[in-house]
Amino acid sequence: MSSLSAFKSFTGELNEQDTKMPVLFIGHGSPMNGIENNEFSAYWSSLGKELPEPKAVLVVSAHWLTRGTHITAMDHPKTIHDFGGFPPALYAVQYPAPGNPALANETQQLITSTNVGLDHDWGLDHGAWTVVKHMYPHANIPILQLSIDYSKPASYHYDLAKEIFSLRKKGVLVIGSGNMVHNLRMIAWDKLDVPGYGYDWAMEMHEIFKNKISNGDHQALIHYEQLSPAAKLAVPTPDHYYPLMYTLGLQDKNETPTFFNDKLVAGSLTMTSVRFG
Ligand code: ZN
Repeated sequence: MSSLSAFKSFTGELNEQDTKMPVLFIGHGSPMNGIENNEFSAYWSSLGKELPEPKAVLVVSAHWLTRGTHITAMDHPKTIHDFGGFPPALYAVQYPAPGNPALANETQQLITSTNVGLDHDWGLDHGAWTVVKHMYPHANIPILQLSIDYSKPASYHYDLAKEIFSLRKKGVLVIGSGNMVHNLRMIAWDKLDVPGYGYDWAMEMHEIFKNKISNGDHQALIHYEQLSPAAKLAVPTPDHYYPLMYTLGLQDKNETPTFFNDKLVAGSLTMTSVRFG
């Protein structure tokens, strides 16, 4: 099939629906969540059963940072093991979900503020597959990734998300995958097994982030550096925070947040996740 006819059949298939798909921010945490059955992955499994079945999933992962914005456009995205020092069982995981080149094309067309590149090299990094694997264990739902242009500020990502809002009405589940509080250098390795353990600054930012999300104060969240001196510790680099900008940008006016996996881990991470719609 030519790409044009594929595009036509795809857009014909994904008509606007009356209902909108929810939009998620998911704290993905350790890559080990990909193979562990714990409270976090158990919730991801339950979400997969509870949500309307999406036509496709579009993940904005903290682990695909690029210059410019790109979207995966291959038929069969490979499983990327983008981490070091984990057990062989984690490297053995394959998540053979299909891609959806037609949806990649359509998303490219929707975004007019920048030229989105169609990518044929990336695949599914662990910010995507460790989560989606639990949600859709049969790997039968097409998964795409949209990259994060790391040369751009938070406001850019927030605004870009608004351009793809119509995907929510076409059965596409968009997931921002990162961690709101994420400071790997300060992980309390001796407190990994202490449930809910968080440093003071992590707890402070955790509360501030949730409060601002609950109040729909997107401007404050875009300018997160100004929220508190603790922001420098909670978000030392914005890679794991920017996916939240996409989720917030896709929030509809009347939607209120539902928080889940709302836990601190190892002092300097939060798994706190949000659902709108
Ligand atoms: Zn990560």
